[in-house]
Amino acid sequence: MESRRVGVVGAGISGLVTCKYLLQKGFRPVVFEANRSIGGVWASPLGSTRLQTPAELYQFTDFPWPESVTGVPNHKQVMEYLEAYAHRFDVIRHVRFGEKVVGLEYVGPDQEEMEAWDLWGGTGDVVAGAGRGVWHVTVEKEDGAKEEHVMDFVVLCLGRFSGLPKIPSFSKNKGPEAFNGKVIHSMDLAKMGSNVAAEFVKGKRIIVIGFLKSALDVAAECADINGAELPCTMIVRTKRWNLPDFSAWGISFGYYYFNRFSELLFHKPGEGIMLSLLATLLSPLRWVISKFVESYIKKITPIKKYGMVPDHSFFQAMSSSLFALLPENFYERVKNDSIILKNSKSFEFCKDGIILEGESVPIKTDLVIFATGFKGDEKLRNIFKSPSLQKIVTGSLENTVPLYRECINPRIPQMAIIGYSESLSNLYTSEIRAMWLTHLLDGRFQLPSIKLMEEDVKKWDKYMKEYSHEYYRRSSIGIIHIWYNDQLCKDMGYNPKRKKGFLSELFMPYGPNDYIGLESKKE
Ligand SMILES: Cc1cc2nc3c(=O)[nH]c(=O)nc-3n(C[C@H](O)[C@H](O)[C@H](O)COP(=O)(O)OP(=O)(O)OC[C@H]3O[C@@H](n4cnc5c(N)ncnc54)[C@H](O)[C@@H]3O)c2cc1C
Repeated sequence: MESRRVGVVGAGISGLVTCKYLLQKGFRPVVFEANRSIGGVWASPLGSTRLQTPAELYQFTDFPWPESVTGVPNHKQVMEYLEAYAHRFDVIRHVRFGEKVVGLEYVGPDQEEMEAWDLWGGTGDVVAGAGRGVWHVTVEKEDGAKEEHVMDFVVLCLGRFSGLPKIPSFSKNKGPEAFNGKVIHSMDLAKMGSNVAAEFVKGKRIIVIGFLKSALDVAAECADINGAELPCTMIVRTKRWNLPDFSAWGISFGYYYFNRFSELLFHKPGEGIMLSLLATLLSPLRWVISKFVESYIKKITPIKKYGMVPDHSFFQAMSSSLFALLPENFYERVKNDSIILKNSKSFEFCKDGIILEGESVPIKTDLVIFATGFKGDEKLRNIFKSPSLQKIVTGSLENTVPLYRECINPRIPQMAIIGYSESLSNLYTSEIRAMWLTHLLDGRFQLPSIKLMEEDVKKWDKYMKEYSHEYYRRSSIGIIHIWYNDQLCKDMGYNPKRKKGFLSELFMPYGPNDYIGLESKKE
């Protein structure tokens, strides 16, 4: 049907799973992918990259990992899994590789009319025709040729951890321009491929900026190549609760943080008086659990010895999804001096290397690698042609990106975003969102008024600020994912309680397996 054309931007995990559910509901998706491959961040990571979560937490509800894959899969296994999924559900046929979306334009009612709407799209109907506008999607091919497609609905699955690298800014003549050596981003190293990257770092004095997943992987790889003769220095601005596996004192994190009981220990958006009272009464237990996990990390890793004990709690790290799984034997490399850890709030470049805050002697180096993340907001903004939509899509910096159910901007019609808000297992979070979105598009439920959606967004914004502190813009639903999934399940008309028995429901960890066959179980 002509009125069911949906453009999906990006063929990473979010785009693939969105396409799969659109096909299942009879839509005609077209997936635009800038690269030559599916997989997004998994298509060209560093050689040593592996998942941060065990396989069973990072799987599609209807597509288990092969039995041979256990524990924490490496990036090759993740790519094989994604390729098998895309073939199994016939997604590949709908992907247009090497086609980058360079402009999105909403053609229909003007901005003034849109601002006066009470209901999304003016009438509350989701797909065009009823919603009265269409999206003009401008695509740039690899040869530079441009093409325009008209879509009734678009789903942005651009990813937050790829694309535009984030490099801190420096005062004049104190940045990379003052340095005689090379400065790159971890993304550039990953793109080289393992062999070229190994050759590139070999024999160089290297500084890595950052202390999360990519920084740890880059430093470990450089240390393995150059050893203690040319140690790799890591500049750590914020100390992190990085740890060797997904458990503490022999108990999986699922029992500490991913069950209904753990969600009773803090305030949730839209909770009633009873839950609010319970959260207040039980909050000391939250502190106890956090300290318990912290005591394990302090015991199992030498962070005290190296002055790397974080200033924030493990609970805060979990609620903002800001911690990483250490590469195997990471602290062995620190012990044998092939990695040197330096804590510093700021630094500046000079001719020979970098000078840390409060010091006068530079750390001499040949290569500085920034593993400082990506500009997810800017990537999202840049895709819109209209300056007003650019502003609306990411909202004010004082608040979280305004997304109802972390998918829908109440003020931008006929468009959804999947994969922006983070969780501790992004694959299945994207799957539940894709399921929710396609139910919405299929008319299985209606969105509330724009006012109500905005009120809901504000409640989630308050939650993010309360528990993720300065990292609220990450919109992490890490420790509140059951509460979040409950809302999506209720919208779709499915029973959110997925366990058998009261005690299991309260204490057993929730993960993708709990949502197997969701659509077949009505409330
Ligand atoms: C090193 C690393 C390890 C990670 N480990 C974990 C983990 O263990 N567990 C976990 O839950 N998450 C992990 N993540 C987070 C990871 O980002 C998500 O799990 C997931 O892969 C994100 O998928 P995505 O599709 O949303 O985004 P991406 O993978 O970033 O895919 C976005 C896609 O959109 C395409 N695209 C972007 N802009 C355009 C455009 N304008 N036109 C056309 N195409 C475009 C890109 O080319 C890309 O293919 C990790 C991330 C990294 C970087």
